[in-house]
Amino acid sequence: MKNEQGKLIIISGPSGVGKTTVLRRLMATCPLSLEESVSCTTRPRRVGETEGVSYHYLTEEQFHKHRKQGDFLECTEVFGRGHWYGTLRQPVTTGLNKGNWIILEIDVEGAGKVMPLYPDAISIFIHPGGIEELERRLHGRGTESDEAIKRRLEVASHELEAAPSYSHIVINQSVEQTVDDICQLLLKSGENSECTTN
Ligand code: 5GP
Repeated sequence: MKNEQGKLIIISGPSGVGKTTVLRRLMATCPLSLEESVSCTTRPRRVGETEGVSYHYLTEEQFHKHRKQGDFLECTEVFGRGHWYGTLRQPVTTGLNKGNWIILEIDVEGAGKVMPLYPDAISIFIHPGGIEELERRLHGRGTESDEAIKRRLEVASHELEAAPSYSHIVINQSVEQTVDDICQLLLKSGENSECTTN
């Protein structure tokens, strides 16, 4: 019998590694019912981002109200800059119950909280290959000051240390290859679960 419950996919990788582009392409091309979880954040909206699509942009007050109510599956203050990020529990469980494959694009700290709650989750770390490559990409993106980039690179070196705790590490050498690698490994894990379910 086919497993009706969806799967949870956790994707992390340092800022600037290209996660957003990879995910957009993955959603458009991989033939699975993928659904991207929309996180909440207290950070300001960047140019080109859309409320309810990129994030739910909340005030500190709104965010901490959710936190107190226990609405978050996980939440964390990323980069130690006073910006909070969190995954609402309810849309994740609703999506999984519908049989969707829910993608959480979250930092290593958040991933570390979700992994024990969902031991069957497929966790993928998108790796830049090296820290120099990441620096090049962050400068190329041009959305942040040199100071912010420096801080992100410090955080990135710490994040790279968490890579071995993920079930898969994919080195992002080209967007096409990374998207294909991730899609193939998801399709493969879908086949496996059908084989083992009675
Ligand atoms: P950005 O501000 O560049 O969109 O994201 C900064 C970092 O926050 C990224 O590493 C991203 O993966 C992480 N992030 C985004 N949403 C969440 C979330 O809901 N929870 C956690 N823990 N991290 C998140």
